[in-house]
Amino acid sequence: MSDSLVGIEPAKRAPAASQAEKLPDFRDHLATADRQGHRCWVYAQPASGRWYRWRKQVSWLLIGIMFAGPFIRINGNPLLMMNIIERRFSILGQIFWPQDMVIFAVAMLVFLTGIIVFTTGFGRLWCGWTCPQTVMMEMVFRRLEYLIEGNAHEQRALDAAPWTGKKIVRKLTKHAIFFGLSFIIGNTLLSYIIGSDQLLQIIGDNPLNHGAGLTFMILFTLIFYANFARFREQACTFICPYGRFQSTMLDENTMVVAYDHKRGENRAPLHRGQSLEQRRAATFGDCINCRQCVAVCPTGIDIRNGTQMECINCTACIDACDAIMEKIERPAGLIRFASLNSIQNGEPFRFTARMKVYLGVLGALIALFLFLVFSRAAIDTTLLRAPGALFQQTPEGRIENLYTLKIINKTSRDLPIEMKLENLKGDLRVMGDGHLVVPKGQLAQTSILIEIQPLLLHGNSTKLEVGVYSNGKRLQTVTTAFVGPRTSP
Ligand code: SF4
Ligand code: SF4
Repeated sequence: MSDSLVGIEPAKRAPAASQAEKLPDFRDHLATADRQGHRCWVYAQPASGRWYRWRKQVSWLLIGIMFAGPFIRINGNPLLMMNIIERRFSILGQIFWPQDMVIFAVAMLVFLTGIIVFTTGFGRLWCGWTCPQTVMMEMVFRRLEYLIEGNAHEQRALDAAPWTGKKIVRKLTKHAIFFGLSFIIGNTLLSYIIGSDQLLQIIGDNPLNHGAGLTFMILFTLIFYANFARFREQACTFICPYGRFQSTMLDENTMVVAYDHKRGENRAPLHRGQSLEQRRAATFGDCINCRQCVAVCPTGIDIRNGTQMECINCTACIDACDAIMEKIERPAGLIRFASLNSIQNGEPFRFTARMKVYLGVLGALIALFLFLVFSRAAIDTTLLRAPGALFQQTPEGRIENLYTLKIINKTSRDLPIEMKLENLKGDLRVMGDGHLVVPKGQLAQTSILIEIQPLLLHGNSTKLEVGVYSNGKRLQTVTTAFVGPRTSP
């Protein structure tokens, strides 16, 4: 048993990350606010241990994907792009247009249902392990803060100290680095919206030519800087809608980061020479009230109070408590991933009816999504009569109508396009040089002129079917109206 933990009163041990856990009526208060509603700054001790090592590997993989994402191309298209301005979206290299909104909506439903299924089974693991907010905050910004300002105790002391030259230098260094990183993150987000090519163009070109892009660049940088420098865990507690919803998805069978109160209580400090039998006889459990689990918590809560809305399942408290258990020679896992049922009743993880229903819905949505993606037409054609034009009669007596043609090429190759009248004989001419090639993932627009003998028309409006072909293969048939004289001559 480590001497460093023996005989030390709780008050002299690790200070809480925040002050809020000192409030006995903790359920009525935010962990990061005092009774007057003032913010209690969270000074979290650096996490370390088995879970942290795994989390670090996952985080760096995700950070790599996040920053490389806009530059990765599949079939020449971005891996992920949400160009709201041009209404073009790219998911896994597949370009989606506003016409594909149904597919996009189903994809969003798959994403949301996936999160619900995952949350029902494994709580807020997404938040602590994969959410960009936590990944960047805990693995990048907080790590830099430790490097510049020291651990939690040193940071607390620095903040309380008067403004000396040393303190100013440290604070300026930290905030300059935070601002620079926020600029990089803001630009990365912008490249997910407008595409990396356009972003590089904004950076390389005269900024005054890209007022909107520059405005968003500055706005995103300021938002990320404010978030990572000041707002931090408050974003997860107050703003994130998923954080608010998650409590409705948890039940007694959900695996969450949980304190085994049956094993840990009654908590009491470990006195020098105190044996396990003596603690049992005194009705003390394994928790020695060292508060290491509270000291490392980035949301400032005490997990021993039970599952709380602030907990992001980051597992830092598991590592902290396991280290203590090792030192006092007790089994690890006083804080662990467990369901309430497993702690209360010793039940193993159960695949509940609720999870099965959610999984069934998720499976159906995935099937629908795949069907929609694979049955999606290669092109999307709109053929509308040119605005303001009625019809014209040629010297030979034929009737002419002018149309505006728009074709979206959803494939990853350029498509040469031919148009043919399908249900009536007549002439169809593509204006310009008569050739139409729609580049991959692009929209092409042109005018076409259709001529038909008046005898073939039915009254003043005749239904026309036009086939859209590429390399001899019909890709789509569109219908439109052909306008002629009220009575045929
Ligand atoms: S209670 Fe534990 S798992 Fe939850 S946020 Fe705090 S340290 Fe992370
Ligand atoms: S749960 Fe573990 S880390 Fe937390 S106070 Fe008890 S012994 Fe210490």
